[in-house]
Parts: sequence; structure tokens; C-alpha cells
Amino acid sequence: MKNKITIAIDGYAACGKSTLAKDLAKALGYTFIDSGAMYRAVALYCLENHLIDTNGVVNLEQLEKSIGSLQIEISSDQKVFLNQKDISEAIRTPRVAGIVSKIAAIKLVRQKLVEQQQALGKAGGIVMDGRDIGSVVFPNAELKLFVTASDAIRTQRRLAELRSKGEQQSEADVLDNLKSRDLQDSTRAESPLIQVADAMVLDTSNLNREEQLAWALLEVQKIIEQQ
Ligand code: C5P
Repeated sequence: MKNKITIAIDGYAACGKSTLAKDLAKALGYTFIDSGAMYRAVALYCLENHLIDTNGVVNLEQLEKSIGSLQIEISSDQKVFLNQKDISEAIRTPRVAGIVSKIAAIKLVRQKLVEQQQALGKAGGIVMDGRDIGSVVFPNAELKLFVTASDAIRTQRRLAELRSKGEQQSEADVLDNLKSRDLQDSTRAESPLIQVADAMVLDTSNLNREEQLAWALLEVQKIIEQQ
């Protein structure tokens, strides 16, 4: 294979972005970064340090003071660490999902995380998924995918994921959270979720994991051959 490329995957919540990104990275021997995990890490930090009150008001002054010293790391086996503590499970709770989009809309949070994400992808050979990867983090990525799936499929996928971790949430609550995050993510002022003009759309509603991967690998192959 010739040069390692950069692959940017964006889309709404629970549409299968991370699964595809992970499978692609494994197949290509690339690094996979779930950028949503990094926003979830900051959201967890805010919850644990009482930087967000019950009305959802964020203590921006305090957050600004502490954000510089936050260390977020993702290991090669996808464990997420916040200041050396393993928070991989803690960031997947409904409590974190409930506030993460609010935290992700804050400019200084995005500045810090985008800088770190760009540094991680400097050498290419990376698959990153999120909301602003093709538009802001890697606008020059060789392959940009915009992943979609129906609401029903997204809800079922997220429910199954939560249940496998022992979290009980109703179908209605899960859908509610997905929709409310989609709305916040696509309407915020700072780098909202958009489908960039040069992204290819992949609807995963009726494709299994292997089919999605095969489709994406073919696109990667075409790009690499053209290099
Ligand atoms: O990908 P995931 O659903 O775990 O992301 C959680 C949240 O993090 C999103 O709903 C969004 O608010 C935020 N996010 C973002 N930009 C990214 C990745 C995630 O704003 N690149």
C-alpha cells in the first residue's frame, strides 16, 4: 500500500460511525480515534467537579482555569483516561450523554480538543470519527464519510449498547437523547455538525458491519490507487 491517508467520519449520534471507524482502522493498520470520547471526558470532568449545575449552567470561569491541565488520553485498546484515571465506562452513562452536547458547544473546549486531535493525526494513517472531523479537524482528509441511519435503528443500537453495560433506559428516553444531541450538535455556533460537500454518504440502516467495512475499504482502495 502507498501513503497512509486520513479518514474523517462524521454523522449524527449512534449511526455506527465509531464501529466503522474502528473496523476500518483495524483493517488498514491505522490509528482509530473516537473524538466523541474526548468530549465525553470533559463532560464527565464537569459533572465530577460540579462545573455544571442542575439547570445545565456551566461555570465557564472555573472551566477555563482547569481546562489547560486536563489530560485526556486514548490508549491503543481504546481505553479513555482523564488525568491518568480510566474513565472508559464512566463516559458512556446516560448522565454524561445528557450534558455532553452542552459542553461540546463551548468554544474553549473545542479549541483544546481540536488541537489535540490534529496533533494525533499529523502523520496520517488515522481514522477519526465525530461531528466536525471533515469540516474542521481534518478539512484536507483524503476520504470523508458522512454516516446516517434511521432513528429506529439508531435507538435500537444505543439501547443494546446500554443494556450490555447494565444501564436501563427506556426506548423513548434513548431516542430523546439522540434527537436532542443531534439538534444541539447541528445548530451550535461553534463548528456545528454539517455534511461537507466532499463527503460521501453512507446509510448504515440496512447494512451489517461487514458490508459497511467492505464498502468503505473499496473507497479507500480507489483513493490510494489514484495517489
Ligand atoms: O460520538 P459521541 O456520540 O460519543 O459524541 C458525544 C458528543 O460529543 C456529541 O453528541 C457531540 O456533542 C460531541 N462531539 C462533538 N464533536 C466531535 C465529536 C463529538 O461536538 N468531533
